[in-house]
Amino acid sequence: MSGKFSAVKTLGRKSMADDWLGEAIDSYYHELCKPSWREVKHLISPSGCWNVCPRAVQLRQLGYSPRFSAQTRRRMDNGTGVHHRWEALFAEMGIVVMEEKFMAGADFGGTPDNLLHKPGNKDEQLLLEIKSINQNGWRKLPWAGQVKGVYRGASFAPTNMAALAKAQPRHIAQWLAYDRILLENGHDIGKGAIFYECKDNQQYGYFFVVRDDPLFEALTDNAQEALKWNRKGNLMGMPFAYTSPQCKDCDARPVCHRIEDGDEALKKMVRARLQQTKRAKNG
Ligand code: SF4
Repeated sequence: MSGKFSAVKTLGRKSMADDWLGEAIDSYYHELCKPSWREVKHLISPSGCWNVCPRAVQLRQLGYSPRFSAQTRRRMDNGTGVHHRWEALFAEMGIVVMEEKFMAGADFGGTPDNLLHKPGNKDEQLLLEIKSINQNGWRKLPWAGQVKGVYRGASFAPTNMAALAKAQPRHIAQWLAYDRILLENGHDIGKGAIFYECKDNQQYGYFFVVRDDPLFEALTDNAQEALKWNRKGNLMGMPFAYTSPQCKDCDARPVCHRIEDGDEALKKMVRARLQQTKRAKNG
């Protein structure tokens, strides 16, 4: 009896060589998250239309995709999951106006994801931008209060957007860009909501937003500047110094600084990509 017991104990014991799982996962993520050059984008993507540096937008438009940490990648994947869950729910509720499809405008292009209508009234429509956010970020959002337990920002009015634009400029810019794309494709929506789910407890809340052209111009100024340079076929100089806080936090820094330092192979590749963005405009 005791011999049998010790055999089981021996079987359960692992050596370090048996511990392959974490290493296998980490090396898979290492490949998955490595920086790459993807296809050149000829239109500004709403998800990348807010950035403190126009050159960072330009490099992204030219196809640069930076390295993400594995944890960031998992966080992004969770955000995508939240998106899909709400989209499926809205579809079940029967309030989705149109299927997702890529739409191109004059300068912006993307796939507006949730255009909803009021139950029973297809003319009353809202454009939703869904975001997941951690509790820390949730607490910093300028909530006006709760209605029946659901968090709300203040109601429709351009002035109410200023506080949210300060806290989350990227989210407002993205919503405004989708509204612009829809307008340029014959769908004059002009109002909707930035819809948040808290990652920690799945609580949801939303801020009503409306079309605001001056705010759109201000938030997307850098992206529009980047597009102009790409359409001219030139890479702009560095707007910030090497040691600036902007460069320190920038995910385009590895390529931006190498170009500036004279990496000839990289410069050649970027020049070839700039010819594509120039041709696209002229073509
Ligand atoms: S490293 Fe600095 S200058 Fe270069 S793209 Fe980033 S923020 Fe802009």
